[in-house]
Amino acid sequence: MSIKENDILKKFRSFSENKIAPHASYIDEKQNIPEELLTDLKKSGFLGVLIPKEFGGLELNYIDYGLLNEEIGKVCTTIRSLITVQNMVAVIINRYGDNLQKSKWLPKMASGEAIAAFCLTEPGFGSDAKNIQSGLQAEGKDKFILNGNKKWISFAQIADILLVIARAEEGLCCIIVEKKTVGIEITPINDMLGARGCLLGEIRFNNCKIPQSHLVGNLGFGLFPVAFTGLDIGRYSIAWGCVGMAETCLDISKKYSKTRKQFDLQIFNHQLVKRILTDMAVELKAARLLCLNAGSFLENKSRDSFAEVLSAKYFASKMVRFVTARAVELHGASGLKKGNPVERFFRDAKIMQTIEGSDQMMQLMISRYL
Ligand SMILES: Cc1cc2nc3c(=O)[nH]c(=O)nc-3n(C[C@H](O)[C@H](O)[C@H](O)COP(=O)(O)OP(=O)(O)OC[C@H]3O[C@@H](n4cnc5c(N)ncnc54)[C@H](O)[C@@H]3O)c2cc1C
Repeated sequence: MSIKENDILKKFRSFSENKIAPHASYIDEKQNIPEELLTDLKKSGFLGVLIPKEFGGLELNYIDYGLLNEEIGKVCTTIRSLITVQNMVAVIINRYGDNLQKSKWLPKMASGEAIAAFCLTEPGFGSDAKNIQSGLQAEGKDKFILNGNKKWISFAQIADILLVIARAEEGLCCIIVEKKTVGIEITPINDMLGARGCLLGEIRFNNCKIPQSHLVGNLGFGLFPVAFTGLDIGRYSIAWGCVGMAETCLDISKKYSKTRKQFDLQIFNHQLVKRILTDMAVELKAARLLCLNAGSFLENKSRDSFAEVLSAKYFASKMVRFVTARAVELHGASGLKKGNPVERFFRDAKIMQTIEGSDQMMQLMISRYL
């Protein structure tokens, strides 16, 4: 049975406001996700929203998925990222995995029994992902040996399965690695500027033996389409998350500007402040429309969806830096103090510039479609 948009939106909003928002500052400060929230999240079904119902997921359409990212983005970037990564990996397994892989992993991912990490970036290769060096070598008929290093991997500290992009003789490929595999070493990366609960890690694979049956797609299948399928979902989710962050900052700023008085006037009534708020609101509206546009291209399985998602991510991640910076500015000194959500969103917004492709990579990729 399909859930009406209104009902599902109410569900997203209520979960976000009641279950996530109370923990958002804690997550940022302590760089961790409370167990209680993880349990609620697993129960909510939101971890497997893009997973088909036959595997226990909610099988949301892309517009509803976007709205979920917007609602969660309004309160907590870390939890929005957790849902993003889980669904990036799930969509790859669902699209390119074989029946055995789907029936083994997707139900566990939908229930949250298995948390996933997407492992592409390496210490020496970030934007230049095509040149990653982690190596996969066949051993006998049914095993691969994996060696290499991955860095800046979200949720590496808690993940149960790692979707690793590695280089085989035939070219790049994608393989599911269980975290319990002998030879895996994870070093936590802490103290990031923003998205501070994302439990990042550097992962070393030392002669890890992986069953050949864990290969997703063929050997040499490449960065495109497998990894790019994940990045496409990631960019779409981030764009919507940016819209959510900006909505909160605009909302808080409007309220503040109508209570704070300077020169005997609510600061809202100073024309230069109205200009700032107007620019914030219009930039935000434009980004939201680009997200809706990208969502409808994804929903229609259009060949152009990739370019539309790039535009949405590029614009929304610039927009959120602008809006959060203006929100901090409008709050004066109180916007610069820890504990004010605009300060947290300002730091989170800067992260959106780099992840899933930097501004420059977006510009280069979008220009190919001009
Ligand atoms: C919070 C966080 C979470 C992350 N999570 C994950 C994850 O889960 N999985 C994962 O695989 N990775 C993850 N990453 C890594 C992220 O994808 C990379 O940081 C990103 O791709 C950029 O790579 P880099 O940091 O190596 O920067 P570099 O690629 O070294 O870029 C440095 C600068 O050079 C510019 N530049 C590079 N090449 C060009 C060019 N050709 N033309 C113009 N300018 C260029 C870039 O735009 C950037 O400004 C995460 C990063 C962060 C911060």
